[in-house]
Amino acid sequence: LESKMQGFDERIRKPYPNVKYLNYRSKKRILVTGGAGFVGSHLVDRLMKDGHDITVVDNFFTGVKANVEQWIGHANFELIHQDIVNPLFVEVDEIYHLASPASPPHYMFNPVKTIKTNTIGTINMLGLAKRVGAKVLIASTSEVYGDPEVHPQPETYWGHVNPIGPRACYDEGKRVSETLSYAYAKHEKVSVRVARIFNTHGPRMHMNDGRVVSNFILQALRNEPITVYGRGNQTRSFQYVSDLVNGLIALMDSNYTQPVNLGNPTEHTINEFAVIIKGLVGGKSKVITTPAVEDDPQRRKPDITRAMTYLNWKPKVGLKEGLKMTIDYFKQEIKKSQKNV
Ligand code: UDP
Repeated sequence: LESKMQGFDERIRKPYPNVKYLNYRSKKRILVTGGAGFVGSHLVDRLMKDGHDITVVDNFFTGVKANVEQWIGHANFELIHQDIVNPLFVEVDEIYHLASPASPPHYMFNPVKTIKTNTIGTINMLGLAKRVGAKVLIASTSEVYGDPEVHPQPETYWGHVNPIGPRACYDEGKRVSETLSYAYAKHEKVSVRVARIFNTHGPRMHMNDGRVVSNFILQALRNEPITVYGRGNQTRSFQYVSDLVNGLIALMDSNYTQPVNLGNPTEHTINEFAVIIKGLVGGKSKVITTPAVEDDPQRRKPDITRAMTYLNWKPKVGLKEGLKMTIDYFKQEIKKSQKNV
């Protein structure tokens, strides 16, 4: 074997991270759609370490193999290169349905494809869940609240979405995903969980996904201007990815079937984010304003009473603590890309 490995990438020979041993009664077969993406791959790490049998399906539009490479070849791990717009036939106990581009530039890149992923893709996953009797968790979004008139946003708020605006492919796509979930739950007795995920950051975020955290960190690291869109008094609330993963697993394992917000209620304006990130990174960047983007939600902050009550979940990682880890990741990625050129 050693000789066969000659000439391969050094990393292939790294030992696997420790994996718990589970007997057949407690070991679950879990499908993670979008499992090679930012959130999906962190979820896969946790479920693998917990000892479960994991199948990842990804079309690698925004997901990357490097995010799951530490598991390739492991007996509990399987990677399928497929687009979930096409039906998938696997036997599983649980499905975490995370597949969809999630950053505005990515989901706007091909709006029709984003709609297909969130409608046909979700039908395929709910249909699979129905056939094999699996529980399914749908990754929904705070975008279902649109540009909210209620603040902070509880799950009971119906939202304020422009159905024909540039964000509609994602917002309405996720709203239909939720509608489909409850239609399958009611009509087909599928066991569904719906997570409304708020802004999240952490390692493995796409370098160039155009989101505020990645943009600001990269701009600060490169001493380029930090671009605030519009007046910068729009707000967001950011959670660290490990908190989200804990919330997703807690929701799947709970008996709670209504939608649940998963996010960190610490809210800041975009101007404040620019100052915070610049302060953590250092450097000589100036903060500049560029034209506002269309239909940009002006305020966003989760009401997490439901998650606290029914899942006993709340975020643990503070904003600055989390941002430091995300910044370290981007520093490493920049180093890697410099080595490769
Ligand atoms: N934003 C910004 N500068 C950037 C990228 C984003 O000011 O370089 C703003 C954007 O207008 C929005 C907020 O940051 O108000 C969050 O944008 P993001 O694309 O990260 O996610 P969203 O929450 O809008 O999906």
